[in-house]
Amino acid sequence: MQLMVPSTSVRHVFTNSDQLIRINEMKVIFVEMSLFITSLNSGSNGNCYYIGNDTEAVLVDAGLSCRETEKRMRLLGLQMSRVKAIFISHEHTDHIRGLAGIAGKYGIPVYITSHTSVNCNLHLKKELVCEFSPYKTVDIGALSITAFPKYHDAADPHSFIITCNHITIGVFTDIGAPCERLVKYFGQCHAAFLEANYDEELLENGRYPRFLKNRIRGGMGHLSNRQALEIFTTHRPPFMTHLLLSHLSKDNNDPQKVQQLFDDHANGTKIIVASRYEQSAVYAIQPYVVVTAQTPVINHAVVLRPMQLSLF
Ligand SMILES: [Zn+2]
Ligand SMILES: [Zn+2]
Repeated sequence: MQLMVPSTSVRHVFTNSDQLIRINEMKVIFVEMSLFITSLNSGSNGNCYYIGNDTEAVLVDAGLSCRETEKRMRLLGLQMSRVKAIFISHEHTDHIRGLAGIAGKYGIPVYITSHTSVNCNLHLKKELVCEFSPYKTVDIGALSITAFPKYHDAADPHSFIITCNHITIGVFTDIGAPCERLVKYFGQCHAAFLEANYDEELLENGRYPRFLKNRIRGGMGHLSNRQALEIFTTHRPPFMTHLLLSHLSKDNNDPQKVQQLFDDHANGTKIIVASRYEQSAVYAIQPYVVVTAQTPVINHAVVLRPMQLSLF
């Protein structure tokens, strides 16, 4: 990993002669605190999201083949040996296609509810299967993962938040309708993968049969751009630095339009449209930091914007 020392942000807070040393110390502290996130793929052709710190990581969903997951992680400099668990949101093929292959090859535990597992029809080794329950936090090393139920036409679908070092990442895709739980957890996130599946007009005027259109927008399907934007503009916490718009429909959406729509309301949050064709960059997410004369203190009361590190 190559670090680039930022030229702005915290530099101005150091006024004494050991400015450079202090910045280097801060850099180390920030790296140790950071969570690294990426979308390896996002869309109805496969979903796989990586969230990790310096030593351990989890995948949320495994919708790419094992080989493709390996390839994309390699391109990003991410090691499968750091992946200590795979969390499965629901049983749709675009979320589990590569699960048996990856979990089997690397012996990675799979966290899945029993209802989802029954509907997956996968042949996972019993010793790799771990059950999770909504709202009961699972600790994977320093990462804490909490699942909560969502509206989607699957057996037992869940969204997740992953917390480590005072940083929270949300994975919110395949959601038929926003709910209080989503709003609550979205408001805690420093970064989030949020579904923006379809443009309402494109869906209405598109080639899908009526029953399919109604399934997508009927409350148990997917979030529209408008719904996602409303969540973002209404419930975005001031410390949210990155929003990765996810699970865009190939037929009923337009990535450029989505990017523009959200950029217009970004208010300081970096907007990234996760691709259905390739991995995104790896983003380093940091907590807000209050800097005193000598010691940086983590605090959610915002004093400074976090330092931006380019890592990969
Ligand atoms: Zn999906
Ligand atoms: Zn689904």
